[in-house]
Parts: sequence; structure tokens; C-alpha cells
Amino acid sequence: MSDAYSPVGALVLFSGGQDSTVCLSWALDRYEWVETVGFDYGQRHVVEMAARERVRAQFLERFPHWAPRLGPDHRLDLQGFGAIGQSALTEDQAIEMTERGLPSTFVPGRNLVFFVYAAALAERRGLRRLVGGMCETDYSGYPDCRRDTLDAMQQALNLGMERDFVIETPLMALTKAQTWGLAKALGGEPLVELVLEDTHTCYRGERAERRAWGYGCGTCPACVLRASGYESWNAGARPALGLAP
Ligand code: ZN
Repeated sequence: MSDAYSPVGALVLFSGGQDSTVCLSWALDRYEWVETVGFDYGQRHVVEMAARERVRAQFLERFPHWAPRLGPDHRLDLQGFGAIGQSALTEDQAIEMTERGLPSTFVPGRNLVFFVYAAALAERRGLRRLVGGMCETDYSGYPDCRRDTLDAMQQALNLGMERDFVIETPLMALTKAQTWGLAKALGGEPLVELVLEDTHTCYRGERAERRAWGYGCGTCPACVLRASGYESWNAGARPALGLAP
């Protein structure tokens, strides 16, 4: 990869969770060069960071047609931001709904911060597309997951960096059940298996027990979304669902 500005290169915000793993497959399926970035902001689910390396290694091993496209991983330290967040993800608080109607796992502005860092990195790496797994259908109500927020973010980044970044959110309009279907459409049952076995979603970082939908406590908001999405997809005979072009 030269340091020229590449229209076919993408940077995927990759946490090692279900959604960002499906986004990584989506990007590998359509772009010639894909790099990943992860953020360490002191989150309680450090186990998610371990999942990142495991998932990347599985892509290299099990999807040889994608392997040549998978570029380096970048890991950025955002501990200072995590200290401001003071939410249930980074402090020892209960995971519950707050009086604002948002889960206590909400770190204010988290995705906005992620995109600023991702764009700065993409600028250095010559990558134009920023891919994130945000979704505003089956979600926890975080306002920085919504597409109108990210449209404004994209405009701010392009004005502030004089670039032409495109923020892509392939899961934005999908239900969690449809996200499983997209995984199947992109990589068949081997990708579904990889998502079940190797990704991590649980806010509590639990991996003791393997359930039908993967690992996790089964009761935190992330597990509840993952489990109900899997169950409704599985109940519908596991259809492969593509995206409109
Ligand atoms: Zn959980």
C-alpha cells in the first residue's frame, strides 16, 4: 500500500464484536484494501480486545479470498477519554437504564470521538472510507449511533481535514436478525460460525458459557440484543440476507 490517497481503501472501526466483525466482512467483500482500528478506552470488557486478534486471525485462516485484502490493525489508546466517560462500562456501576432513558453503559459522544481518531488515522494511511457498525433499528438508543449524527460528523471531518471521507454504516437499517443474515450472505455458514464462536459482545466480558448465540452473560443490554436477534433469525430458517446495492 503506497501512501497515496486510495479510493478503494477502507478503515473499519473494529471492536471484535458481532457488528464490527460483519462490517469487516462487508468491507473485505468490496474493497481491495482494508485496515482495522480498535480503541482502548478502559472499557470493562477487555476481553473484547482479545476477540479482535482472534477474529482477524480467523479471517486470514478461513477466508483465503479475503486474506490478501486485510491490512494492518491499529490500536489507539483513548484511556483519557474513558476517564471522562465515567459510565458503567468503565466504572464499577450497575448496567441499567438511567433517567434519560439510556442504558448506563452510554459513554457520551463515544462514536464521535472514535470517528475523529479514525479519520486522523485514515488520513495518515491514505484511506478514504470509514466503516462503522452503528445501527439505529435494534439499538440501545445511543444518539451517536444515528445516521443523521454520522452525516453531520462526516461533514465536520471533511470540512476540518479538507478531505473527502465517506462514513459507511452497512448495518444502520438492519435489525439484529438481519445482521446475522448478512453474515451468512457474505461468508456463508463459516462466517456465521466465526461470529458465534469468536466475536464478543457482552458488556460484562463474560465468556464462561457457550450459548446458542455465542458467549455472554445473557442479561446485559448487548447480550439481550444479540440473543433475541439470533433467535429470531434462527427461527426463520437462517436466511442469507444481502443488502441493496
Ligand atoms: Zn452480557
